[in-house]
Amino acid sequence: MELDAGLQTSIPGIFATGNVAYVHDLVDNVVREAAAVAGNAVSFLQGTAPQAVPRFSLQKDPAETVASDPHTQRFPCVVCPNSCLLTVHLDAAGQIAEISGHRCRRGKAFARQEILDPHRTLTGNIAVKFLN
Ligand code: SF4
Repeated sequence: MELDAGLQTSIPGIFATGNVAYVHDLVDNVVREAAAVAGNAVSFLQGTAPQAVPRFSLQKDPAETVASDPHTQRFPCVVCPNSCLLTVHLDAAGQIAEISGHRCRRGKAFARQEILDPHRTLTGNIAVKFLN
């Protein structure tokens, strides 16, 4: 799917937002982007030019390793909507040497947890048959 800067598809008047457009890290960013895209839809109906929609999400893979330094990892903090981009430097033994990019101690704690004891939530569906 091709999108222009206003997130309009190749079909005039049809816009895309959220993970349809690109992967987002926080639903808060989806809401901000959707509001901007809705404004563009209104502009389209009024016959005025849509505005470019900024990318609100960081689009960082949580496990991203900085290519030039295998001892450095960058990932967004997901504790609050600020989405601070955290950087964790590891020493030669793989221990945390430095954490930066956080704006508060909760972000530092999140970075430490992501490196030492990452938590994930796995959702799924199970088909159930009732025997009656
Ligand atoms: S570091 Fe603090 S301010 Fe930044 S996203 Fe995490 S919790 Fe929010």
